[in-house]
Amino acid sequence: MDATVHRPAPRLALRSRPPEHLLLPDVHLFDPACGLDRRGSLLVRDGVIAAIGETGGLLADAPEAVVLSHLGGCHVFPGFVDMHAHLRTPGQEYKEDLASASCAAAAGGYVLVAGMANTDPPVDGGPLASWVLDQADQVADVMLAQVGAVSHDLRGEVLSEFWELADAGVVAFSDDGRALRDLDLLLTALRYAGSIGRPVLLHLEDESLASDGMMHEGAWSARLGLRGIPGAAESGPLARDLEVLRAVVEERALRSPALETGGGVPLLHLQHLSTAASVRLLRAARAARLPVTAEVTPHHLLLGDDLVAGFDQSLKINPPLRAEEDRAALLAALVEGVIDCVATDHAPHAPHEKEVPFEDAPFGSIGLETAFPALYGGLVEMGSLSLSRLVDALSAAPCRVLGVAAPSLEVGSAADLCAVDLAEEWEVTTADLHGKSRNSAFLGRRVRGRVVMTMVKGARRFERAAEAGNDAHAGV
Ligand SMILES: [Zn+2]
Repeated sequence: MDATVHRPAPRLALRSRPPEHLLLPDVHLFDPACGLDRRGSLLVRDGVIAAIGETGGLLADAPEAVVLSHLGGCHVFPGFVDMHAHLRTPGQEYKEDLASASCAAAAGGYVLVAGMANTDPPVDGGPLASWVLDQADQVADVMLAQVGAVSHDLRGEVLSEFWELADAGVVAFSDDGRALRDLDLLLTALRYAGSIGRPVLLHLEDESLASDGMMHEGAWSARLGLRGIPGAAESGPLARDLEVLRAVVEERALRSPALETGGGVPLLHLQHLSTAASVRLLRAARAARLPVTAEVTPHHLLLGDDLVAGFDQSLKINPPLRAEEDRAALLAALVEGVIDCVATDHAPHAPHEKEVPFEDAPFGSIGLETAFPALYGGLVEMGSLSLSRLVDALSAAPCRVLGVAAPSLEVGSAADLCAVDLAEEWEVTTADLHGKSRNSAFLGRRVRGRVVMTMVKGARRFERAAEAGNDAHAGV
């Protein structure tokens, strides 16, 4: 690619806070990207990780540091990154807004969250993208990135203002919430996205197959008498769209022998994969070295369609919770790195919208506050996934997809991190949730690992209200 090509950088918006001078004493430092897995103390100063060492030595050099003794024994991870959330601003702030979403994110250990474009109105032009990011600069306690729409008004007909959106700093392009039916539009979007250096994030759904479906089509939908959404509603369009990707890659290879596929931002990223058939297609595409990456949600990794028998509206999700063989295939792909990252698809809905008959409820579950504990308790503790792969999938991997710097515990890095008490087992209740909405697929479930503190740019953004006897406070 010509080095002179104009490639605007993504804008990460954050309310500034005075950096703090803090010592995290005797914690377990864990960052697979820099091979860190040991006990130690960590000093934060001027927004960065200033030193790692023993408490005594660090305090001798920095006697004025505030010592966060209640974090002793916690694991400290590079902060989590969610590349798929619905922040509901503008237009649906009764469900969630930038402040409440960033509160929920910080409470879940996240330091960076990307908001989808399917707001009201959709973010399909530069001025609106800039407006959202300006708002985030005022209220967001974690870094917020904005995704721009692929098509004008998300109608799938006319391409949105790609260059204008890129200049406003969008991190990617997506019509998420709706499928792209028009292959010429997808082809054009991939060409533009490739020259801008941002990925297209794809929501795969054949609307004719999914039409009026409420859950996975299988034995359980038959038993419950609910109209099903077959797996082919996802894998069908995926097979087709991968051929479009292949065409764009071949075209670009003809024009530019130095095609940026190795290690760079992918052209295409597959959102919330849910079926074994999709995993098979992804494996083949990766084997063919197509520039494609993928994400999976915690609920698709942990929950199955049998749970819909309880008619809990929070389990009405799109794509739907699938069968056990799908869940197993998604997990295997995540373990192997064929699926790159975990994304929450955090989709807040107000109680008056969700607390209606199952058939009438909107799709979606919130997920920012339960992602780590659900996956740690449900997969790592059970021996199904390593802690290092989980932390990578929650932090560095989505940054590789988006082409942004990953949080790191290396000395000199920005202090974007979270502290988690891995020993705490807890049951998710509505009282634990910090966002505006309560529609969590994990309500009532036991999870393990509790985020105790989240720090962004060296300032505490969340600290869990503590038991008597220590100085922690919530909602810093
Ligand atoms: Zn989607």
